[in-house]
Amino acid sequence: MRNPRNRYTPLRRTVGIVVIYLCVGWLWITFSDAVAEAWFTDIRMLSLVQTWKGLIFVLVTGAVLFVVLLMQFRKDCNLIKLQHDQREALRKRERQLAVLMGNLPGMAYRCRLDEHWTMLFVSEGCQELTGYAPDELVDNRVISYGSLIGAESSDVVNREVGAAVAKDESFSIEYSLTRKDGQTIWVWERGRGVDEDGELVLEGIVLDISDRKALEEELSELATRDPLTGLNNRREMTHLLDEEVARATRYNRELALLWIDFDHFKDINDSFGHAAGDAVLKNVSHLLLDGIRTVDSLGRFGGEEFVILLPEMGIDDAQEAAERLRETISKIPIPLDTGETVSLTISIGVSVFPWHGRSPDALCAAADKAMYRAKQSGRNCVGMASEPVEAHNS
Ligand code: GH3
Ligand code: MG
Ligand code: MG
Repeated sequence: MRNPRNRYTPLRRTVGIVVIYLCVGWLWITFSDAVAEAWFTDIRMLSLVQTWKGLIFVLVTGAVLFVVLLMQFRKDCNLIKLQHDQREALRKRERQLAVLMGNLPGMAYRCRLDEHWTMLFVSEGCQELTGYAPDELVDNRVISYGSLIGAESSDVVNREVGAAVAKDESFSIEYSLTRKDGQTIWVWERGRGVDEDGELVLEGIVLDISDRKALEEELSELATRDPLTGLNNRREMTHLLDEEVARATRYNRELALLWIDFDHFKDINDSFGHAAGDAVLKNVSHLLLDGIRTVDSLGRFGGEEFVILLPEMGIDDAQEAAERLRETISKIPIPLDTGETVSLTISIGVSVFPWHGRSPDALCAAADKAMYRAKQSGRNCVGMASEPVEAHNS
């Protein structure tokens, strides 16, 4: 359907006015001449009337032309003023937006939804966030934003953005980013797919969250690590034991647990002081760590008690591993900060899933009991759990 507003184009209007002018002129000349000839028979009078008639025609049509042109010029002036005001308002809004973007923490962006994340616009914050000037990233003039995203995050980012765009929802993602200076930072991004002249683009904001990530990692370390030895703490070991027992149950595998207690540790504290006792705890924990496989887990359960989990290890191998650790500790002199060394022995209780218990608690109880027996047998020895404690406990 045609837009009725388009009917009055400038050409049509001009043609209309000229046609009206020609018609009026033709009518005026034809009828005024006839009327003048009918009224005035005197040739001189007729000539005078015709002269005035021409002058009147020129004056009237000139006045009409003046009014029409004035109206048109006024309209044009109003239009020009309106356009000027609109341009000023737009410029003002752009200035405000630029100030707002400049004050935003991080970087605002608009980019194509392609594999390179081709940037169509980035705010000034780009320089601080990525180390690249906005000009270097826009249109991938120097480098593409996609190539800055950490390889390990890339798939997750693409998947999550794609899913959000498909559902016409906004997305929030965290990923690592390599800056121009090679430093890796963590960023948080919130964005959304937007239709721009028929093309789907992404618009959003990217913030540096490296400090928050470092704090999270620190908190996670505090929650899972023993501050003195750097090993897993009791909470983490309990968690790992639960996981390993679940895995051993699911795949019908064995799992050995070693419960270690230092012999006469009080004597070391009493003889050398608590700080020296701490140094011994640290050094022995490192020796224990050196003596186990990478798939094994070692943790400090509290005081001078340590627990080792040995996945997929049966009774004989577990006993052998415990003997090896016991022997290593008993043979190596443990250095103190003073330069002196002390000798230390350990007692170890061993229990094996599923033979001595099928639950974490049952396994711990069996290993603890076996360790107690090792103490009673004179210390510096390995005690094997001999009965399924679980039968009584669970
Ligand atoms: P036993 O052979 O019977 O195990 O004798 P023990 O002296 O080792 O006795 P027990 O295991 O009951 O006592 C452990 C001692 O370890 C008690 C405490 O003074 C000491 N201890 C516990 N935690 C720490 C610690 O973090 N640092 C230091 N230096 N000593 C600790
Ligand atoms: Mg103890
Ligand atoms: Mg002890």
